[in-house]
Amino acid sequence: MATLTFGQKSDLGRVRKMNQDSVAALTADELDRCADALFIVADGMGGRSGGEVASRVTVETIPQIVKQEMAQLNGAADAQGMAAVLREGITAANDAVWNQARSNPELRGMGTTCVGLLIKGSTAAICNVGDSRAYLLRGGELAQVTSDHSLVQEHVLSGELTEEEARASRYRNVITRGIGLTNTVTPDLDAFVLTEGDTLLLCSDGLTNMLTDREIGEIIAKEPDAQRACDQLVEAANANGGKDNITAIVIRYGRFTPTALARPNGHQQTPAPQPQIVYQRAHGSPWKAVVWTTIIYLLLAGIGAAYLYQNYGGWPELTARKRPETPKSKPEPQPKSPEPSKPNYDQPIQLTELQFQGQPLVSDGSMGVIGVDITGHTVHVTRGGTAKIGKLAPSTPTSPIESSWASDRAGNKYIAQRSKGTIVVLNPDDIQIATFSSDRLSHPDSIAVNAAGDIFVIDQHKLKLITRNRSPKKTGDVNPRDAFN
Ligand code: CA
Repeated sequence: MATLTFGQKSDLGRVRKMNQDSVAALTADELDRCADALFIVADGMGGRSGGEVASRVTVETIPQIVKQEMAQLNGAADAQGMAAVLREGITAANDAVWNQARSNPELRGMGTTCVGLLIKGSTAAICNVGDSRAYLLRGGELAQVTSDHSLVQEHVLSGELTEEEARASRYRNVITRGIGLTNTVTPDLDAFVLTEGDTLLLCSDGLTNMLTDREIGEIIAKEPDAQRACDQLVEAANANGGKDNITAIVIRYGRFTPTALARPNGHQQTPAPQPQIVYQRAHGSPWKAVVWTTIIYLLLAGIGAAYLYQNYGGWPELTARKRPETPKSKPEPQPKSPEPSKPNYDQPIQLTELQFQGQPLVSDGSMGVIGVDITGHTVHVTRGGTAKIGKLAPSTPTSPIESSWASDRAGNKYIAQRSKGTIVVLNPDDIQIATFSSDRLSHPDSIAVNAAGDIFVIDQHKLKLITRNRSPKKTGDVNPRDAFN
């Protein structure tokens, strides 16, 4: 067989504090000579240490299974058999990550992508879950040989997004399949015959989001040394921003001759089988999802408010504040005008001399707003410009940078703390009256509160509802600490 050489590099990048990518490269000796080489790149996700654990467990589990299964086949594995062995490896990795995520609350929600390449003789088998990629450079042409399981890739395939738009999309990190996210996973499997001079590249999206296929192709087509090619890829991704962890393995089969890259864009995307959504349930365009979320939110808010108003004759209050005035009579139905009326606005005026941080700024559920001033104190400002500075010390863990805020009409503040995975509720005097840190929350992002006091939260791309407990234990006297379930 032709000689195999390879290089590998995994880099933190220039923005992240932790490298959640993992890499494995095993030679024939390390595989007990059951195959010639096995390469894996896994890109973990999930808060705290979760992503790191998921990717590490995956690159440790797959080689064990590959050795075991290949030994059972007694060296008689054909391309199909090798692909089946990789599938076994992925299944075992999924079980291992899923079970750890379920048994350890710290690791809940973790998952990882995985792209693997098993070589025996001139046969190469490939497995893929998620948006890490494998590329083949042959005869000066670079082709992506895996299909991303990502939301944007689905939209590229359906013609809703161009490749360029997909690269710029804020949804580009949303994967539709991953290891450890559910109890089963279906990898894409492929196998092909290598020819002398082939170069293969396995990489995480920290490389492909920073470099175009053209840029990647030019580096690996020019640099004969596999390790130096990896170093140059990582260096180039860092030079373009290094916004994520960057991992690359370059594999050379036989004697390589540097060439010029053949076509302006040698990227050939084979149509993927219908992707199976497991991680992100939003079908259709993200905008459709946003519109539907808004409609559902408004409906829920309306139903909740109507129910409360009918049953308890008023709005719930978390604190003993004056009930807001409610309209006494229904407004007269307006005759339908043929033209929608356009609102008139005045010029902006400055409400107060206080200086505010850039965010957050949320409605207080009534006529005013709540913000945070530059000293880190909460400020409630009425429409008339009267400001009330809260007691919340700047050191409290509610930094607006890493949190999302909402408020209800009683002036209570709801703060989702992304990195801590918690939601806290503060009353108008900044006293903490409720906190949520259940194992059902991992990275609460955006938060909203409806008229009935229910909390909506986007947690790792999923919309969750925390219903406010409305059972009237003692009529007219709701203990705020018991107000939520
Ligand atoms: Ca990544």
